[in-house]
Amino acid sequence: GVLTELVVDNLREIPDFPEPGVLFRDITPLLANGKAFANLIDGLAAHYRGHIDAVAGLESRGFVLAAPLAVHLGLGMITVRKGGKLPGPVLGEDYSLEYGTARMEIRPDTVVAGQRVLVIDDVLATGGTAAASISLLERAGAQVVAVCMLLELAGLGGRERLPGRRIDSVVTFP
Ligand code: 5GP
Repeated sequence: GVLTELVVDNLREIPDFPEPGVLFRDITPLLANGKAFANLIDGLAAHYRGHIDAVAGLESRGFVLAAPLAVHLGLGMITVRKGGKLPGPVLGEDYSLEYGTARMEIRPDTVVAGQRVLVIDDVLATGGTAAASISLLERAGAQVVAVCMLLELAGLGGRERLPGRRIDSVVTFP
């Protein structure tokens, strides 16, 4: 649709970043294009209006999408942060990466029990970041009703790591 075209037209692909063999998809051209960025947020807002009560952004590119979307919809934003950034009390969830582990954290007092939350980030790769974030939000009492990703790298199996979830990807790469 219109949003898919908007994202595809404003992407940049960088080979061998951050390591050899990885094709990095960069959304900074989209953010730098004021018209495209505004149209993207308008389109997402129209899609989710009335269906969600809060927007959860995943650090850090998810924040750039979650904040304008939340303001546009008159909703609050929940920041799901990388481990060690938030003052306590926090809930944390460790997850495995290809090499080593990572951790996401939230402050549970930023979640209202039962509220319908949209999780948003730029890229769904292996799904570890999203799975850990959803688990945290639900431990804090949220109802995660959808996951919105600008790009889905389907070959990395993120969807399989999020069984039963509604995942709305604007652009899917094999
Ligand atoms: P996952 O946990 O799904 O494997 O990785 C998702 C996280 O890694 C996201 O927060 C995303 O920002 C980052 N990521 C992985 N691959 C890419 C990529 O090609 N481009 C960008 N911009 N981010 C990526």
